[in-house]
Amino acid sequence: MDLTTLYRTVIMDNYKNPKNKGLKRTDDYHFVHLNNPSCGDDMNVEILMKDGRLEEIHHDGHGCSICCSSASVMSETLKGKTVEEAMTVIHDFYELVKGENPKDEEALGEAIAYVGVRDFPARIKCATLSWKAVEQAILEVEHERK
Ligand code: ZN
Repeated sequence: MDLTTLYRTVIMDNYKNPKNKGLKRTDDYHFVHLNNPSCGDDMNVEILMKDGRLEEIHHDGHGCSICCSSASVMSETLKGKTVEEAMTVIHDFYELVKGENPKDEEALGEAIAYVGVRDFPARIKCATLSWKAVEQAILEVEHERK
């Protein structure tokens, strides 16, 4: 299996069988909604922070396969990470899909599958929508804590 096929498999698996999908919307969770009008993607993300770590990350939404699968991969990749670790991975993911070099490719895990997005600039917003949502959620929780 070549890398392109492997990456396509990761994306399709997460699209067909998304992980951490479905919201709780209880008071413990911080919720963010973002959309991407250029593609019609609509994404909700909620996070539960515990002891400075992302204890739970849930997503729900609709849109293209890149957007929906990416939300699943994002939730799996960032779950359990500290705020600092998560922020590094989030920004590395932005670098990856823009065609720049991520600082720590290993920490990206399955998210590395989106490397091909760099060849389709119109899809960058699809790939990053859930990551932008989780980033905003983390920043808002951090802001509230201070
Ligand atoms: Zn899309």
